[in-house]
Amino acid sequence: MSEYRQDKIIFPWGHERRFNAYPEYFRKLFGSRVQKVSIDAGFTCPNRDGSKGAGGCTYCNNKAFNPSYCVPEKPVSQQLAEGIEFLKHRYRRTDSYLAYFQAFSNTYAPLEILRKLYEEALAYPGITGLIIGTRPDCIDREKLDYLKDLSGRFYVAIEYGIESCYDKTLARINRGHTFRAAENAVRMTAVMGINTGAHFIFGLPGETREEMIAEAAIISKLPLTTVKFHQLQIIKGTKMEEEFLCNPADFQLFSWDEYLEFIISFLEKLNPEIVIERFTGEAPPRFLAGERWGKKRTDQIVSLIENRLEELNTWQGRYYQ
Ligand code: SF4
Repeated sequence: MSEYRQDKIIFPWGHERRFNAYPEYFRKLFGSRVQKVSIDAGFTCPNRDGSKGAGGCTYCNNKAFNPSYCVPEKPVSQQLAEGIEFLKHRYRRTDSYLAYFQAFSNTYAPLEILRKLYEEALAYPGITGLIIGTRPDCIDREKLDYLKDLSGRFYVAIEYGIESCYDKTLARINRGHTFRAAENAVRMTAVMGINTGAHFIFGLPGETREEMIAEAAIISKLPLTTVKFHQLQIIKGTKMEEEFLCNPADFQLFSWDEYLEFIISFLEKLNPEIVIERFTGEAPPRFLAGERWGKKRTDQIVSLIENRLEELNTWQGRYYQ
């Protein structure tokens, strides 16, 4: 239920922003701003090394999303030192950081290797927790038991790449797992009391806009703490780029105006308890082969979305049932 305080609407998430925003979630949790420092710890992925599949997901090129200080040859602590140095210049008021194991599948190794890498990160000064990006089929009870134990002392979140709620899409983009597998991993993680995040892409080939909107109801039922949404970007050098160049009519990439209207309708149907970390992805222009939205930075995109929510006097979860 929303309430009014001094003529301001306070939404159920406890502030006046019209969606359940990630920075405020962390401010509430830590009492201050927290930044993520990306790490490439040299993991690979079962969808690339042949154990699940070969070639990977058709859209995947991890280089497009890795900051330059993330180099797997460097030890975790060196990557953290360089990452924190970089972030300190941009965000002067931050002195608390989360180590973000980002590149590829960061639970895809025996537990003793994971333990060594995660604990090296947690021992670094200023690191208050871990965010671990991985695939739904790279987690098991033993790893979750360990992470549950860690989460008694640090902030710990697992972020699953789910991408779509439809098996026909997951097969088409060669994810190598079903939506049921993703749902099971999310439920197994959440039930252990570990913060559970998920990543979804809008605009994947073969999906209609109606199917994408219908995902709001499906995602709303998952016990997720946080979500990240991205518009599909065609990244150079990927299998998807080849498909796109052969048959562009098969792709209905969002223009910015279309995406803005889409994301507002989507938000209105999304469970208000789910914290939203991102609305869009931002691959560097040199990696992009398809639709571009000009030079909009992520913070400008968030402002445009918030302005539109204000104009329409609407908010996350307005039509959530
Ligand atoms: S699971 Fe992730 S790292 Fe592996 S191929 Fe797919 S997108 Fe790339």
